[in-house]
Amino acid sequence: MAYEVEKSDEQWRAELSPAEYQVLRQAGTEPAFRGEYTDTKTEGVYSCRACGAELFRSTEKFESHCGWPSFYDPKDSSAVELIEDHSHGMARTEVRCAQCGSHLGHVFAGEGYPTPTDQRYCINSISLRLASAEG
Ligand SMILES: [Zn+2]
Repeated sequence: MAYEVEKSDEQWRAELSPAEYQVLRQAGTEPAFRGEYTDTKTEGVYSCRACGAELFRSTEKFESHCGWPSFYDPKDSSAVELIEDHSHGMARTEVRCAQCGSHLGHVFAGEGYPTPTDQRYCINSISLRLASAEG
């Protein structure tokens, strides 16, 4: 599958910090409760840290107490790409940036959170960059 933003592995390594590269390009997961946006309530838009595409809004962020920023819906359904992930012996759905293919996190459904979609987009803080609406 071709992405709008395509870069070589060397380019990504040069542009991202080692920690960003590990999550975004190697589908790593940052430690729970350690990411900078876990409890953030600032109003604004969360963009892909790798390519800048707008992915999530603070209005769809909710307190899941799972240790990672959680959203119940992406900004646009076309902003993210969902891929079946059977790594680590689990059947999960991976969430990637639709523009550059970078790993963002996973989406879980039917967990009983009181949200309009009953979905939890569990996203690594390090995959995102928040642009505050307050400037
Ligand atoms: Zn991206």
